[in-house]
Amino acid sequence: MSTTRETRLDDEAADFVALVEAESGTPLAACLQCAKCTAGCPVAARADIKPHVLVRLVQLGQRDEVLSSRMIWECTSCQTCTTRCPQKVDIAALNDALRRLSRAAGKVVGGTTVPTFNDIFLRTIRRLGRMYEMGLMTSFKLRTGNLMADVDKFPMMLAKRKLALLPPHVRGAAERKRLFERARRAGEPAAAGAKAGGEKK
Ligand code: SF4
Ligand code: SF4
Repeated sequence: MSTTRETRLDDEAADFVALVEAESGTPLAACLQCAKCTAGCPVAARADIKPHVLVRLVQLGQRDEVLSSRMIWECTSCQTCTTRCPQKVDIAALNDALRRLSRAAGKVVGGTTVPTFNDIFLRTIRRLGRMYEMGLMTSFKLRTGNLMADVDKFPMMLAKRKLALLPPHVRGAAERKRLFERARRAGEPAAAGAKAGGEKK
């Protein structure tokens, strides 16, 4: 009985590793655990899981721990780790893939507003074709309830013309719609894979 259970868990782990490698396009098995990535990472000090540990956990197929980690949302995609890695492991791409899989699997850690920000950012680009900071900030504050954060900077940004009061007008709405639709379709296998992994219990 226990042998059957161990075999099933091994299969789950292998499926998860294969899915993450396919989604991130980076060779996780090449990692030496030298921790050069962590040594250069600007957010590692406050991360719940350091970058080199994250790679190790993925190698071990620790799906739930990885997909519900705060680190994948703290990552700024600065690519310092990717540049420093002697084995060409692309942790920035890994974190991108893990964020997609985390959302698809409903495993996003509580308390992070990054997915909300990303959604509003992409919706703004899709609708307007260019960033509209005023609209983004307003939507973000309403969605997160953090209405008063950074309001003291508002007059200064207006004075320096860093905030436009009116949204931009950019042509190409139909083309943008096609691009976003193509991107959405490209993400479907990831969502299906993550859900499939999560349903194996
Ligand atoms: S720098 Fe590269 S090889 Fe070293 S621990 Fe990080 S990912 Fe692994
Ligand atoms: S890309 Fe992310 S994990 Fe890599 S160094 Fe930058 S913040 Fe850290």
